[in-house]
Amino acid sequence: MEEIKITFLGTGSAMPTKEHNHPAILASFANENILIDCGEGTQRQFRIAGLNPMKITRIFITHWHGDHILGLPGLFQTLALSDYRKTLKVYGPKGTKRFIELIQELIFDFHIDIEVHEVSGRFINENTFFAETAEMHHGTPANAYSITLKDRIKLDKKKLKKLKLPNSPLIGQLAAGKDVIFKGKKIKAKNVVYIDKGKKITFVMDTSYNTNAIELAKNSDILIAEQQELKSTNILPPRKQQR
Ligand SMILES: [Zn+2]
Repeated sequence: MEEIKITFLGTGSAMPTKEHNHPAILASFANENILIDCGEGTQRQFRIAGLNPMKITRIFITHWHGDHILGLPGLFQTLALSDYRKTLKVYGPKGTKRFIELIQELIFDFHIDIEVHEVSGRFINENTFFAETAEMHHGTPANAYSITLKDRIKLDKKKLKKLKLPNSPLIGQLAAGKDVIFKGKKIKAKNVVYIDKGKKITFVMDTSYNTNAIELAKNSDILIAEQQELKSTNILPPRKQQR
């Protein structure tokens, strides 16, 4: 089974505490390191977790409330200073392009190659995984996301060894589900291949209850959800009366 590693870099909302940084989660698998939200202080959380922000491949923004995104300017600055060479792909709800442009203006010597996508539905479809989004209810454009690692067809190496099948194009045919003839004997693909089941992980951050979230989270192996809000628009605690 392909491994996916989830690192909770921050789980607090609105304001940080000694124990909880602002929201940021890193999902790592194969060659991907996908950062979901980037609250203030996320860079330091990377260091504390012993992770390298230069390895980020994509960023998914759930929504543009400060507690979920104020780490972006600092992170971009660090990537620019460290000579980040990949194309940084940023995905988010409506408004994301404008906000990213504003951040780019803030950064000294910003020369990162950046691609920004305002997304809906299935917005990434690679050979090994796909990603989907659904609109949430949060008083501002907001997305939830799921990442699905696709099922993989694998060859049972022990069985192949027993059959004394040499490394040849026949193996590729078996992997493609085709039966083959070897030394006059038929080898059925279904006897030597098996399915390595994929995994689905869904991230539902700030939102009030809605059926899109339920639909997106369906069949997830892991669901990461912030505590449901009682009020969808008021994210800050009431201010203390000034004296
Ligand atoms: Zn929010």
